[in-house]
Amino acid sequence: MTKQYDLIAIGAGSGGLSVAERAAKYGAKCAVVEAKRIGGTCVNLGCVPKKVMWYGAGIAHTLHDAADYGFDIDVKGFSWETLKRQRDDYVGGINSWYHTYLKDSDIDEITGYARFADAHTLDVDGEQLSADHIVIASGSYPVVPSVPGAEYGITSDGFFALEALPQRVAVVGSGYIAVEIAGLLNAMGADVTMLLRGEQLLRPFDAMLRECLMEEMISAGINIVTSSRIGEVRKAANGKLDLICADTGQSIGRFDQLLWAIGRAPASSGLDLANAFVTTDEAGYIPTDAFQNTNVPNIYAVGDVTGRAQLTPVAIAAARRLADRLFGGMSERRLDYEVIPTVVFSHPPIATVGLTESEAREIHGDAVKIYQSRFTPMYHAFTRHQSKMAMKLVTVGAREKVIGCHVIGTGADEMLQGFAVAIRMGATKLDLDDTIAIHPTAAEELVTMR
Ligand code: NDP
Repeated sequence: MTKQYDLIAIGAGSGGLSVAERAAKYGAKCAVVEAKRIGGTCVNLGCVPKKVMWYGAGIAHTLHDAADYGFDIDVKGFSWETLKRQRDDYVGGINSWYHTYLKDSDIDEITGYARFADAHTLDVDGEQLSADHIVIASGSYPVVPSVPGAEYGITSDGFFALEALPQRVAVVGSGYIAVEIAGLLNAMGADVTMLLRGEQLLRPFDAMLRECLMEEMISAGINIVTSSRIGEVRKAANGKLDLICADTGQSIGRFDQLLWAIGRAPASSGLDLANAFVTTDEAGYIPTDAFQNTNVPNIYAVGDVTGRAQLTPVAIAAARRLADRLFGGMSERRLDYEVIPTVVFSHPPIATVGLTESEAREIHGDAVKIYQSRFTPMYHAFTRHQSKMAMKLVTVGAREKVIGCHVIGTGADEMLQGFAVAIRMGATKLDLDDTIAIHPTAAEELVTMR
């Protein structure tokens, strides 16, 4: 017998859970279908366990600085095993909480792999489910390149399964995941080499952030090899890995572990989308309009699988607005994809919102005025390990409306949220100047820049 719902979400990650949760609040009968662990990438293999590791790495940095603050500390060691156990327990707690939450919210949790039978029907491992509205929130997965020996490496998924800190690690890639994992492995004591096919880290980010992060990572002891496209991976008899550069044939090696962090791909190919006539682009992403509609009425997509701003809060926001529209009577409700703040949990962290300087100049030309500052935050005034802070405000026009804010340095991650609100509300440089500084903080620089 076919079970009938008002809404089914494919994927119990940030997007799928959020749309079902909000729709259920409006009284809709909902189900979420998930083949793996509840919570999706963010909870199990992304934001949450990563942030735990990032905190751990931060403690390692603090311990290094402790002597400069007068503490005579003898650090006897670091147990990866303990940290992993605590982290996995924490994630397990979130999984359990979600199971209970769905039950309490009267949302059916269906374990299995969903495939479209037609535009209103899903086949989940032989069980037929039907719904008025189907939301594809199947997420994405990490890409492994098709080069010989690529299988010797792991991705971010494999990183979270590591039972021990690898000693000598190669990280291939230059985006969020590459810089985050390289930074925390380095802080915990691994010997880390990053291999970039280009010249820069975080290419889409503002130049100031990219340059500053590169300097900070090198000064923290990370070996960054640029212009090295990996053409092959070889495994020696002792298990060590050698990376062969495609262009030069140069071998970089003797690594204990190799991490591919070269982007993510949409989890769409197994959904039998053709049975519902849902189209994808060439890469497999499901295009949506401003209201998360796919090309088929009553089938929607949110989150990573749409290819737009692959960030947890974006998936959540799009999903909640979709439910508001479908069941809450808010016919025009949709996510505005402009001005999305984001943090890279590098060491030090990066926080950014709005246009980069070069994007702003391309759009607004000479109407752009930049304010920037680079300084040593007070915490590092007398620590041997120095870490700088850099900030930039991008403004436009005579009123100097702030259209970009970019920060790198300790505390940047917690600093930007409030500024993102102000920028979204149309704050000008004068509004920032008129705001009383909080002293002594690093954030005060953002309201005192000349
Ligand atoms: P990203 O898209 O951030 O970066 C991947 C980069 O790797 C590319 O931009 C490219 O940079 C480089 N690259 C691509 N192919 C190759 C290749 N074959 N060899 C070497 N380098 C290559 O991907 P991530 O996997 O880091 O993260 C995926 C997404 O997940 C992010 O975009 C982000 O949206 C999200 N995320 C968010 C986090 C957060 O909010 N803190 C944390 C982690 C992920 P180039 O072209 O310059 O070489």
